[in-house]
Amino acid sequence: MKLNHGLILILGLMLSPPAPAETLASAAAAREWRMANEQGVVDQFSALLRLPNVARDKADILANAQHIITLFQDAGLQARLLETGQGNPAVYAERLVEGATSTVMVYIHYDGQPVNPDDWASDPWQPVMRDAMVEAGGKEVPMTAPFDPEWRIFGRSAGDDKAPIIAMVSALKALDAAGISQTVNLKLFLDGEEEAGSPGLRAMLEAHKETLRADLWLFCDGPMHQSRRQHLVYGVRGSYGFNVTVFGADRPLHSGHYGNWAPNPIVLLTDLIRSMRDSSGRILIKGFHDQVRPLTLEEQAAVVASPRVDDQLIADLGIARPETEDRIEMAILRPGLNLRGIQSGGVNKNSRNAIQTSATASIGLRLVPDQTPEFLRQAVESHIEEQGFRVIHDEPGDEDRGSLQHLARVDWSSSGGYPAYRAAMDDPNALRLSRVLNELNKGELIQTPTMGGSLPIYVIEEVMGAPVLILPVANHDNNQHGANENLRLQNLWDAIETYAVVLTEM
Ligand SMILES: [Zn+2]
Repeated sequence: MKLNHGLILILGLMLSPPAPAETLASAAAAREWRMANEQGVVDQFSALLRLPNVARDKADILANAQHIITLFQDAGLQARLLETGQGNPAVYAERLVEGATSTVMVYIHYDGQPVNPDDWASDPWQPVMRDAMVEAGGKEVPMTAPFDPEWRIFGRSAGDDKAPIIAMVSALKALDAAGISQTVNLKLFLDGEEEAGSPGLRAMLEAHKETLRADLWLFCDGPMHQSRRQHLVYGVRGSYGFNVTVFGADRPLHSGHYGNWAPNPIVLLTDLIRSMRDSSGRILIKGFHDQVRPLTLEEQAAVVASPRVDDQLIADLGIARPETEDRIEMAILRPGLNLRGIQSGGVNKNSRNAIQTSATASIGLRLVPDQTPEFLRQAVESHIEEQGFRVIHDEPGDEDRGSLQHLARVDWSSSGGYPAYRAAMDDPNALRLSRVLNELNKGELIQTPTMGGSLPIYVIEEVMGAPVLILPVANHDNNQHGANENLRLQNLWDAIETYAVVLTEM
């Protein structure tokens, strides 16, 4: 991607105004309250982590929801369950004020990934404190103050996504203790089935549209930037994918008798893949980029102003060099075509001198705004046909085989597919939020147009019509979804100040 560097640098400077001299009053109040209440905050967090919250275990989920409603009520929020009659309930809470400048909705999820306790160094549902990550030899320390801010609490959902619940409750208590009033209306929406793909999110939003109305949605989920600096993200990529199977003869053939004559499906498949994507990751499918929304100058400037992590990642990940010359923040702004897996024949002790009957590849697509799954499906299938294949969607029958064309079976059923989302950086509420966060972080706020992963955020914009920004609070190395999930205490402390500022300075 070509960048206009002069203009972008100027915009980058505008995005990062010089650091203000004094601390924000609400941040100072939040810090003071937290320092006097660390034991209580940790105890409250650990009680919440002790409640198993796998989405499919309905009774567990309800116990979590009730526990959270009580926590919210204690912090002066009106809180209740939201239901649609299907799936897990959401928890809704609000604290509204007279003369609010705007209404901010905070999205959190209270369900967690399933666990495999054998992989954990301690019981995932019995939180413990350690002085470092397990991988770094962290050893258990008593869960009693005084706490070192580098210590971490281990337990399922510590980072993903129960920390924001505790941080928000603490921020509200801190503001109340200092007599500082909110300037924005606060609403909270806690999804109870995010880790199960939020199947009921659209129905939930539609059923409770008036209740959930807000000027800005803040998606408080996911890890923060690797630099540990506060990160505000404006979008996510969409997700789609397919399996493609190409066919050779209808029975395995002797490679001596038939090699060089009978088509080899593994070769057909690898050639097909090579026609879809070059070695720098650029997608070669005609029309694939037709819908892509160009980056604005502000978005390009935000990338240029963010710290480079490529060299650190290259060292950490043990790779020789990236596929592309683009820095990673720019690379993830392009659509992606990832080869998820490939299957045919066997290797090592399973190899045989035969020509296989078929070969299958599983391909994942990462979408950017404004690509749609329907359009891409058409582009992919047209591309496969242009490579000389006949596209089918079921197992080939005699009639297909009689067509004297190579056959490619394309199956889209395994991945639902949904579009990407990217909020406008010049939305007035987004601008106010980025200004206060930058002030809180002494000009060190990182802003990026998208994260690499996918979340179905487009649903929120589609139903609610409000911009959605992602404001993660968990440490990047929180092991979310894996064993030994953890939250670094300093991240919890910082989140309390972040929320206090959002509630009072926007
Ligand atoms: Zn999450």
